[in-house]
Amino acid sequence: MTHILDGKMVAAKVKKEVAETLKANGLHASLAVVLVGDDPASHIYVEHKNKDCEECGVFCRTHWMDGNFKQDFVANYVQSLARNNDIDGILVQLPLPEHMNAAKVLAEIPPEKDVDCFTTANIGRLYSGDAFLKPCTPAGVMRLLDEYGIPLSGKHCVVIGRSNVVGKPMAQLLLDENATVTVCHSKTENLRDICRSADVLIAAAGNPGLVTRDMVKDGAVIVDVGMNRNADGKLCGDCTREAYEVSRFYTPVPGGVGPMTRAMLMQNVMMAAANRRGLDLNYKGEN
Ligand code: NAD
Repeated sequence: MTHILDGKMVAAKVKKEVAETLKANGLHASLAVVLVGDDPASHIYVEHKNKDCEECGVFCRTHWMDGNFKQDFVANYVQSLARNNDIDGILVQLPLPEHMNAAKVLAEIPPEKDVDCFTTANIGRLYSGDAFLKPCTPAGVMRLLDEYGIPLSGKHCVVIGRSNVVGKPMAQLLLDENATVTVCHSKTENLRDICRSADVLIAAAGNPGLVTRDMVKDGAVIVDVGMNRNADGKLCGDCTREAYEVSRFYTPVPGGVGPMTRAMLMQNVMMAAANRRGLDLNYKGEN
């Protein structure tokens, strides 16, 4: 019997928790979103973030900038947000225009306001087992697995993808839960057999149809992080429908990992706000 891991439902729960916790602590959290240029997908993502903030009672302001601006101008602007004491979290919507070096712009975000967990300091803390703000997508996956009581300790978790945003931090968070983790990537040989040995298979390749039925052990858990468009322009993950069918649990696309990513951003803004005020929220949802 196959069940879905309902990211939409759990994300709504997380956002409610955030809203209630902020209210209960009289905490006013604020997020600054930096949006550079006219990428339509980025504009939609930023709209979603604004909506989530509204739902959670987080003050959100989008700082839009012309895509032709020089990198230094954008970096200096981020620096000014960093100095602004009224702002708890700063998010630079990626991708930035091609003429900009994203790492240089992101480096202007101070770790305590780095709600995407992109700075070297926060990444270092994550890998040394002392994470403060966790990257939203992997943290969202962990919360979703936890909500459904999916055991990880001692289990073989296979992560397809080794990006800094998803694959690598995903592997680290799984290791922190005592999973045995294998990370696969575009040069991995024998991907099929490695995936077939997974108790939990996390696909984050951005490659529609990559994970087929023969790559999934009966009763495994599939987390499909992939967000792709199929030939009909419909949103789809990295796994085929037949692959989902042999699993015990899987995350649908859409409605799985995507909403969890958004909810974890709200959690991070709340944690950043509390941390900046030296407030211990005793927040149960923190994982
Ligand atoms: P990326 O392109 O930076 O990394 C993809 C990784 O997959 C690489 O490490 C690459 O080696 C690996 N890969 C690609 N093709 C492969 C193959 N055939 N076999 C094995 N490994 C392969 O992408 P990313 O930023 O990590 O994102 C991955 C996917 O997750 C994308 O579809 C992206 O849109 C999606 N995503 C979803 C969310 C969400 O909230 N749902 C968040 C972030 C990313």
